[in-house]
Amino acid sequence: MVNQPRRVRDQFAGRVWRVRALLVIADIGGYTKFMTVHRINLAHAQYVVAQLLESVIDAAAPKYELAKLEGDAAFFYAKLPDTPKEHELAAFSERIVKIRTAFIDRRAELEINRVCSCDGCVQASKLTLKFVSHLGEVALQKVKHFTELAGVDVITVHRFLKNSVTVPEYVLMSTPVFERLDPEMKVLAEPMKEHLEGLGEVDTHVVDLQKAVQRAGQATPSRLRAWLGWLKMTWRSLPYFLGLKKSCDGFKTLPAIQGREP
Ligand SMILES: [Zn+2]
Repeated sequence: MVNQPRRVRDQFAGRVWRVRALLVIADIGGYTKFMTVHRINLAHAQYVVAQLLESVIDAAAPKYELAKLEGDAAFFYAKLPDTPKEHELAAFSERIVKIRTAFIDRRAELEINRVCSCDGCVQASKLTLKFVSHLGEVALQKVKHFTELAGVDVITVHRFLKNSVTVPEYVLMSTPVFERLDPEMKVLAEPMKEHLEGLGEVDTHVVDLQKAVQRAGQATPSRLRAWLGWLKMTWRSLPYFLGLKKSCDGFKTLPAIQGREP
């Protein structure tokens, strides 16, 4: 829809339609509460998370469309045919691995070419990526150039973010996702249960990504890249540093600084 001419796009404006869809949230975490609340730290944390989210979004495309950026998380969806098929999510594990690999590579690149020693930059190497996923029916509504997703399944996948999983990097999925997975990922999943606010107890299946995917970042150091990266970061951080924009708005990874001064 995004690439269609405006005349065609406008015909869909405001229209709501229902589709089966796979819903995936990729969520960055790992900043500790010990981060000093300082404008530079926060502006650089904002930049670091934006860089990592960019790598996640690039690796998710074109299969998964970005529905929304939600602070330090990205919400994706992939439309599915009306008739369910066995193993219809066979490419799911492959895509998760691809996204995670892109994240790890970008994180390694940021670390190896780091020239700043503020908390926002130093703690970047400790950041983690987790996924929650659900499959269900969603209502899509075209609003200007954006597609809004709504429905109880959209709420469910968001509720999965608050869970009892103790490992730092994982995929938590609902039973409909688990049932349609390829056998390779299925065998790695551990059954769990979550109590979701307003939705009750739900069966879940969790794959520990640190066990499932072993791959270190392959970045090589470069002085030029380091300084170009620093220039880019300084330029992009300027509006946050000057207080024209609010750093780290909606970042769940920084709970300690909620309610801070803008
Ligand atoms: Zn910094």
